Amino acid sequence: MIRAQLPSLQGVWDILDRVLDPEVPVVSVVELGIIRDLEWQQQRLQVTLTPTYSGCPATAFIEEEILQALHQAGIPDVQLRQQLAPAWTTDWISESGRNKLRDYGIAPPVGSASKRSLLGEDPIVACPQCGSEHTERVSEFGSTACKALYRCTDCLEPFDYFKCI
Ligand SMILES: [Zn+2]
Repeated sequence: MIRAQLPSLQGVWDILDRVLDPEVPVVSVVELGIIRDLEWQQQRLQVTLTPTYSGCPATAFIEEEILQALHQAGIPDVQLRQQLAPAWTTDWISESGRNKLRDYGIAPPVGSASKRSLLGEDPIVACPQCGSEHTERVSEFGSTACKALYRCTDCLEPFDYFKCI
């Protein structure tokens, strides 16, 4: 049997780092922190991923994107495995992912999800346009259920805030 030329695990991470979140098309699935594990089982690649918000309609779409990217990269045999525990939190978004969210005009999640829910406080969300901390929440839901709509009281720009969970 001729062993096909398959990319290394690092190569697979690089491929997945080019698969973007359909809801925030500047942040990759790797930066989002939903890829939990990659493993070669001989010729088969097993991808373990934890969906972001449960019931987020984007999950099925993301899985399709991941499969397509890997197939195009010459990995025909891919097994996707969903891991639901521990649940994804916004803490898993990487530093570069947070910076890209800000550049895109979405305020990245503030602080640690676990710490905040204990305190039950509203976070101070800085405006991604001007950096002002004088902002107010306009609506619990922004452009998608995963985001809240905020408005900056200094520059008056509305913006999406990536909600902490
Ligand atoms: Zn502002």
